Amino acid sequence: VSDAPHSSNPTPAPPPSDRVRLRRKRERGSHDRAVIDQILDEALIAHLGIVDEEGQPCVIPTLHARQDDLVYLHGSTASRTLRALSEGTPVCLTVTLIDGLVLARSAMHHSANYRSVVLLGEATSVEGPAEKLAAFEAIVEHIVPGRWRDVRPPTDNELKATAVLAIPINEVSAKVRVGQPIDDEEDYSLPAWAGVIPLVTQTLALEPDPRLRAGIAAPAYATDYRRTGSPRPRR
Ligand SMILES: Cc1cc2nc3c(=O)[nH]c(=O)nc-3n(C[C@H](O)[C@H](O)[C@H](O)COP(=O)(O)OP(=O)(O)OC[C@H]3O[C@@H](n4cnc5c(N)ncnc54)[C@H](O)[C@@H]3O)c2cc1C
Repeated sequence: VSDAPHSSNPTPAPPPSDRVRLRRKRERGSHDRAVIDQILDEALIAHLGIVDEEGQPCVIPTLHARQDDLVYLHGSTASRTLRALSEGTPVCLTVTLIDGLVLARSAMHHSANYRSVVLLGEATSVEGPAEKLAAFEAIVEHIVPGRWRDVRPPTDNELKATAVLAIPINEVSAKVRVGQPIDDEEDYSLPAWAGVIPLVTQTLALEPDPRLRAGIAAPAYATDYRRTGSPRPRR
């Protein structure tokens, strides 16, 4: 996917470390926490990259939630990845939102509009029952805002069987591409169609559980569910 310039904030936040300084197409990068938080909050899936004890890199998809300056993760205490994280294995968490397919007149300049975040660091294990419960709530509310108040909260045993980890949002970067393809000047007269196919995460008709108790209507957070939209290209 080719890169095209993204006009960034006139006084951009500096990278918090050299490791998260964008080298390639750095004009598309951002270290602005508002940009980063918005991407973390909209994304439904995060990928956790670790190098295991045999030196094998492994990238595992998972759910996440941001709460203030932390990204929470949760899973079975038997999860190999979460166990490694709780032992201090360095991690790279990445989230990606794809906003459009960018069709150029040349094969080379095809691209994608996207917003992504890369977070480096080490996770800490959340052990306190109150913070663990709050992390659970954050994850449920991140996925379906409004859901927590309608469901049975986890029992002590359920909490014990679940590992909750937190990664501080310190060493972090965002990268954003918006807008039209950038073709070579001489290619603009070619007969190929060019432009953007916008993409969104869309819901389909709800599928109520056949065992749903009679008389329970679907809540608005389910019927009206949507993830917030992509940024408008700047002109
Ligand atoms: C949906 C999607 C499709 C893409 N397709 C391609 C493709 O086909 N080919 C291609 O070359 N690139 C693609 N990119 C861009 C790609 O993610 C990298 O930014 C780019 O390849 C440069 O990699 P690098 O290792 O040289 O980054 P560097 O700039 O050397 O990375 C240095 C630091 O910059 C930050 N960084 C780099 N990339 C990102 C990012 N995407 N989001 C947040 N922080 C970042 C990280 O902190 C990283 O540690 C795509 C991105 C997305 C989201």
